[in-house]
Amino acid sequence: MITFAERLQKLPPYLFVDLRQKMAAAKARGVDVISLGIGDPDMPTPDPVVAALCSAVQDVTDADRHRYGCDSPVADFPQAVRDFYRHRFGVSLAEEQVVTTLGSKDAIVKMALGMLNPGDIGIAASPGYPTYNIGHVFASATTYYAPLLRENDFYVDFDAIPDEVKRLAKVLWINYPNNPTTAVADLDFFARAVAFGRQNDILIAHDNAYSENTYDGYRSPSILQVDGADEIAVEFFSLSKAFNMTGWRLGFVAGNRAAVEAVKLVKDNIDNGCLRALQFAGAKALSLADEITPALNAVYQQRRDIVVNGLRQNGWDIEVPKATMYVWAPVPPRFNGSSRAFATALLEEAGVVVTPGLGYGQWSEGYFRISLTYPDAVISDAIARISNL
Ligand SMILES: *Cc1c(COP(=O)(O)O)cnc(C)c1O
Repeated sequence: MITFAERLQKLPPYLFVDLRQKMAAAKARGVDVISLGIGDPDMPTPDPVVAALCSAVQDVTDADRHRYGCDSPVADFPQAVRDFYRHRFGVSLAEEQVVTTLGSKDAIVKMALGMLNPGDIGIAASPGYPTYNIGHVFASATTYYAPLLRENDFYVDFDAIPDEVKRLAKVLWINYPNNPTTAVADLDFFARAVAFGRQNDILIAHDNAYSENTYDGYRSPSILQVDGADEIAVEFFSLSKAFNMTGWRLGFVAGNRAAVEAVKLVKDNIDNGCLRALQFAGAKALSLADEITPALNAVYQQRRDIVVNGLRQNGWDIEVPKATMYVWAPVPPRFNGSSRAFATALLEEAGVVVTPGLGYGQWSEGYFRISLTYPDAVISDAIARISNL
């Protein structure tokens, strides 16, 4: 009999399957279902970035334009990364402190493969992006979940991590602005994370997927702004959410030299880099960040306000997120804290799909997530339906 490897058997069940089936069933019954579930930008990649891709891929003077990106890297991209970090965060990165990646999801797993041995622990903040744990599973390491609680402002409580975990852990994953809680971190928290990493020899891996998706004038810092952070911290940046480039698969890892080198070594043995035209286009996007991101954020901010104002008018307890493309809120009291019961009722009675908190782990039960990556009219319609529930 042909069977899967154990590592596939160890993958956690996909908790949204249930909801997906219910969604299909509702559609089959003729319910007009609107989804606010998925966090994948609806707006197109900005024109200058698309134009840069097209001209690079058609540039007959570039004899390498069809070739493996790893063998014919485009210096413009890492240079644009370094310029962006200096300009945006005041952080200087050496050449060997940056590696171009095929987005962050891929890079997160590759770093786990490069840094963790069987039996090691990786600490993942929870609720959080499921891929940190997937990286650990693929590396035969174990995940310890550090809860992000509202009473701690959704920060990791470093003092609550057991000594035994600290001894065996080699990496701690954090993510601010945070998906799904929308919490943001200040430099003081990042400094405490760096101090924790130093004290315990634990690499601090900061997933910085949303630093450019911010509102009301808020600017989100990089962990690498903390003095000496690169001795113990590494940052994952993705062009996906900042520039509406999810399908393009482009990002980078920056900071700690050993971590960057590990990602490079794993990549050299698994992927062959990304298309040169993509690297040129990515450099263009980063160089135009000041022009591109305010316009995108204005759209998300308006959608956020439709959601927050609409739900508050109905007496819901909703906080106004400063960042990310999400609204994170407690389920109404009559559902007794069950995010699944709430999501199911919302789908069956109002035809609206939201993401139940339970899908992000036990610590986010009682919450749900609305994604702002849908047109204003769809969001308004959904909020009106939720209000009438
Ligand atoms: C979307 C997302 C990513 C990664 O996106 P890629 O498209 O793989 O670069 C990483 N972390 C978080 C928290 C995300 O929400």
